[in-house]
Order: sequence, then structure tokens, then C-alpha cells
Amino acid sequence: MPSVFDLHVHTGVGSPDSVLTPQDVVQESLRIGLTGVVLSEHWPWRTHEFNEFVSYAKDHGVVIVRGLEVKTEYGHILTFGLHEYSSGISSIAELRRVMDRKGGFMIIAHPFRFLFDVVGVAVTHTNNILFPDPATVPTVAEEAVSHPIFTYVDEIEVVNGGNSDRENAFSRDVAKLLGRKGTGGSDAHSKAGFAKGVTILEGDIRDENDFIAALWARVLTPGEGFHIGQLQYFGDVSEKLVVNGRKPAAEAPPLRGRLPSFGDRT
Ligand SMILES: [Zn+2]
Ligand SMILES: [Zn+2]
Repeated sequence: MPSVFDLHVHTGVGSPDSVLTPQDVVQESLRIGLTGVVLSEHWPWRTHEFNEFVSYAKDHGVVIVRGLEVKTEYGHILTFGLHEYSSGISSIAELRRVMDRKGGFMIIAHPFRFLFDVVGVAVTHTNNILFPDPATVPTVAEEAVSHPIFTYVDEIEVVNGGNSDRENAFSRDVAKLLGRKGTGGSDAHSKAGFAKGVTILEGDIRDENDFIAALWARVLTPGEGFHIGQLQYFGDVSEKLVVNGRKPAAEAPPLRGRLPSFGDRT
């Protein structure tokens, strides 16, 4: 039975720009029918609070995995297996070294966000971090694959709920040329668009170890539209990854028990 995860979610606990609460994550996952969620926060949770939340979510049948979205000179990297910041990891090379030591997995998030929006009266720059110079903006995927970022990361986010369709489609073209599967996540900072992007992983993923092992095994495919019961797959989809979707309920279910409020990270 495949598992359906949103690989890119921010809560207010680890991301000051998010209004999504941990309770929302559990309720929305149940309403939509997600297996689990990766909290790819900007700042790490306190470990005991995270563990408390993991077991609360587990009691409701939702798997929560810990991630960090680390800002580097080549943009935002979704990291799995890294629980804390260490010095120097805003450098992509150092982040790779640290992740290799930990056996962690790295995904470049929204690599082509703003690529097609040129800025400035005289078209002076783009707001895309990989290709800031309009003169070097790739027009076809073949022109983007030689960017050094792709030698550092293990996978490429090809469905990001905050990206335009054009930006996501370009990511998929690049991933295909590089022989990567691509991953999907919503980048949700509120209930709106939660689970818009998902990753379907082979097997019954129950915890962080299962999750990272499935990433390394690369039996995964990205999808879009799961949150409205209209899942569209991308890439080569094996039978093992076909999900029998259902129409999400209109109302979020009530939750059992009380979850303490978590400390403010800011
Ligand atoms: Zn980001
Ligand atoms: Zn993000």
C-alpha cells in the first residue's frame, strides 16, 4: 500500500511566517486522506515538543516527519535527517558534507520560482536565485541542467504549491533530463493549498527512518491535486505507486485529547 506525503509544510512553531498550527496539520491530513506530512520548517522544533507532537499525530493515524528548509547561496534546500542547524550550512558544499555524514537526503525546493518574472525598468535582474541575470535565464530545460546546484542535491522539487504551473513544469523538464524522479509538496503556510503537492512513496511509511529509506530507494512519484480529490501523477508511475484517492471531506474531523501549545521560536 503506497503512502501519500506532503513533503513541504510549515507550521507557526518552526516558521514565523506560517499560520498553520500542528492541530491543523493533523486535522487537514485526516480530512484529505494523507498518510503523513513532513514539517520542513525554517527553524527546528524543540526535540521533546516534536516527539510529543509525533505521538499525538500517530494516535490519530497521521505520520509526522521532521525536516528543515535550509537557506543557501543556491536557494532553499529541503533536508531530511538534519534536526538542528550547525555552523556553515548556509554554504551548499558544507551542507552536503554535513548531510553525507548523517546519511541525510537533500531536495532543492522551488528551484525555478520567479524565473520568468524579470524585474526592473531596464530588465535588470530576476528574483530567481539560480539565474538572477536575465541574460542567462534558460529558456529550455537543456540550458538549466548544468547549474552546479544539481550536483549537490539528491532530488528536485517539481511540484510546489506556491509556484506557478510554468515554474513547476520547467522543474519537471529539468528533473527528467537529469534522471531524477522529482518530489511534490505544498509549501503550505496556512490551510489553503495544504497537500496541493504530494509525493507518493512505496510502502507503509511509519516514521522518519522508513521515510528516508524510501527516498533513497527512489520508489516515489510526485503528484498534484490530492487536496481536492483530483490527483494527477507526474513521471513514470509504477503499479506500486497508484493510490486510490477519495474525495476529501468538507469538514475537518474533531481531534481527541488536548495538545499543549508549543513555544514560540522567534
Ligand atoms: Zn522555500
Ligand atoms: Zn518552504
